[in-house]
Amino acid sequence: MKKLASLLLVVLAATVPPLRAAEDLFTLTPIVEGVYAAISHPAYKTNCNAVVVLLDDGVLVVDTHSKPSAARELIAQIKKVTDKPVKYVVNTHFHWDHFQGNQSYVGVWPAGIEIISSETTRQNIEQLGAPRVKSQILAMPKAIYQLKADLARATDPREKETLTNNLGAAESYLAELKSMQVTVPTLTFDRSFALHRPTRTVQIMWLGNAHTDGDVFVYLPKEKILVGGDALHGWLPFMSDSYPYDWIKTLATVEKLDIDYLVGGHGGVMRGKGQIELWRNYLGDLLAETTKAYTDGGTMNEIVAKVVPILGQKYQTKFPDFTARVPANIEKAYRVISGDTK
Ligand SMILES: [Zn+2]
Repeated sequence: MKKLASLLLVVLAATVPPLRAAEDLFTLTPIVEGVYAAISHPAYKTNCNAVVVLLDDGVLVVDTHSKPSAARELIAQIKKVTDKPVKYVVNTHFHWDHFQGNQSYVGVWPAGIEIISSETTRQNIEQLGAPRVKSQILAMPKAIYQLKADLARATDPREKETLTNNLGAAESYLAELKSMQVTVPTLTFDRSFALHRPTRTVQIMWLGNAHTDGDVFVYLPKEKILVGGDALHGWLPFMSDSYPYDWIKTLATVEKLDIDYLVGGHGGVMRGKGQIELWRNYLGDLLAETTKAYTDGGTMNEIVAKVVPILGQKYQTKFPDFTARVPANIEKAYRVISGDTK
């Protein structure tokens, strides 16, 4: 019987392609010895990047993606590179694509884990993150209905394939949302927190309002690695819950750190501090140009139409997603400047 079972396994191994689920969501690449960037692949529902830091006695992971299954897949990848237990998970901020996988880390290792964030991010997860999970549950059926309608109309085979994949992803995402247990951080701090171990130190810091009012930066001073969450990443900034004027000041504080590698919540691993200067300049120009257009008069839509090409001259080639997302940033700047938060 045992022989038959092992024969079956051999046959299965030869005929069934290896499970590639984990590799489909992330590429785990070493930045320096013992520190990995889990760079997320494009997906129907965006997953943020994670950073995996091996400590002497355990592992620290930054951010948990958009869903428990994504976090489980990263856990499977982590187990391939180390036997150490994950002891600490950091939430950089309260947005869905960074904390909704928290529950997957609970109960996996006997010693348990601490989920670390700023006190403000913990409050934000409770007060804003949790209601937004419910609001996604209400919104997803409409998105699924639309995907089905688009699929029924589609004729191009490639479009059909994409829509079919998206529909499957949307349906399983909705199922995960419905069973999600919003899991809040267990260990919070006001300004900063550090883990000191013989081989490395990890600083976890709130440096001012930025992408949200609770953004956490994770900094490895010896390795000169900064993890920026969505306060600093490789795409155009997302600004809906942001404090743009404060953000510029916070980035100026970040820029004083000694940095060789930057890993943000989205995009790839970056070298040096160039991205910090780029974001400072972009946010400054966005506010200055929108202010100028606002004081010249016009509706929000007219102001957006006017400012897009002005910013485009400098920044179009600097950000891969500039065209798709710059209008929302100008609208945010307009709301901040005008006080019109409707
Ligand atoms: Zn994000």
